[in-house]
Amino acid sequence: MKFIDEFRDGDLARGLAAAIRQAARVDRDYHFMEFCGGHTHAISRYGVSDLLPPNVRMIHGPGCPVCVLPVGRIDMAIRLAREAGVILCSYGDPLRVPASGGLSLLKAKAGLGRKSGSNGAGGNGERRGEIRMIYSGSDALTVAQQNPEREVVFFAIGFETTTPPTAVLIKQAQALGLTNFSVLCCHVLTPSAIASILESPEVRQWGSLPLDGFIGPAHVSTIIGSRPYEFFAEEYRKPVVIAGFEPLDVMQAILMLIKQVNAGRALVENEFSRAVTRDGNRKAQRLVSEVFELRRSFAWRGLGELPYSALRIRREFADFDAERRFAIRYEAVADHPACECGAVLRGVKRPQDCRIFGSVCTPENPIGSCMVSSEGACAAHYSFGRFADAAVAQ
Ligand code: SF4
Repeated sequence: MKFIDEFRDGDLARGLAAAIRQAARVDRDYHFMEFCGGHTHAISRYGVSDLLPPNVRMIHGPGCPVCVLPVGRIDMAIRLAREAGVILCSYGDPLRVPASGGLSLLKAKAGLGRKSGSNGAGGNGERRGEIRMIYSGSDALTVAQQNPEREVVFFAIGFETTTPPTAVLIKQAQALGLTNFSVLCCHVLTPSAIASILESPEVRQWGSLPLDGFIGPAHVSTIIGSRPYEFFAEEYRKPVVIAGFEPLDVMQAILMLIKQVNAGRALVENEFSRAVTRDGNRKAQRLVSEVFELRRSFAWRGLGELPYSALRIRREFADFDAERRFAIRYEAVADHPACECGAVLRGVKRPQDCRIFGSVCTPENPIGSCMVSSEGACAAHYSFGRFADAAVAQ
């Protein structure tokens, strides 16, 4: 398939691996963070780490939108269905993220299904909520059109890639005059997460997380462009190479980072030039700023409360803001005590450092969010990397 096969070519991969080995100096180590879950998945699935010399180490970053959702945000979605009686529409992965009290959206859905009659009415005649899995935000709009007597809420998550479609949805709902549709907005921003990693004590004070550069996001950068990363290159002297999600993209980016480090340079380079420009998608950016504004603060799993790191719906579109409409507030909840997702998302621990990895916590029974999505570091390592661990241990 065009634009896929040529980026998975084995001969080219061998050539790139040789070029990386040649470029990496033997008298130093290289530590690069791949920000995106898409890169983490590609590195694990295609065994990219196995092709690197031992002194070139990849560190998983926090760029998986499902992973960074804190427990309290999942709780809000559950409360909307259980207490406000809405039809809560969510993509598949967030349904399995553990919430408070041993619940998840999926378990809450099962409970609501048992309590409701076939017409969706509870035992005392009141409407009970529902939780439905959808494949795109427009499915949620369709649900709202088909159920004019019900409140329908779209659980919107994701980085800058998924924000413009949510803005389109809200404008469509307004144009259609829908009065029963709203959005629980949990959209977060990539540059804030990178800044939080670079400002973390592990990087700045203790040096326990050595970082020589970043592989920058692919899809996010199609929207925001490469310009926002220039700050990190200039202020923190960390090179950034934006890369596509195919294995050869990632390997090429690693080679470009090594060359920058060797030359003492810290620049933003764009390996994914087939889709990313310096300015990004201006039309999408305008749409996003028309519908959304910055939140003062937002809680991330693993990274804590980060200032100006997420978006909320502007007052002009308040009717479509589920937080305002249902007066629902975020409440912080601690992760499972054995879960190391926070440390994994900050890059200070690897999935296999968690003592319940692969035993208590598996993709079938996730205890933490990083084991849910295929882009989560723990799920990726469970699917593709754990056998290599076992082989090394023998
Ligand atoms: S193995 Fe499970 S509990 Fe441990 S860090 Fe990963 S997701 Fe969290």
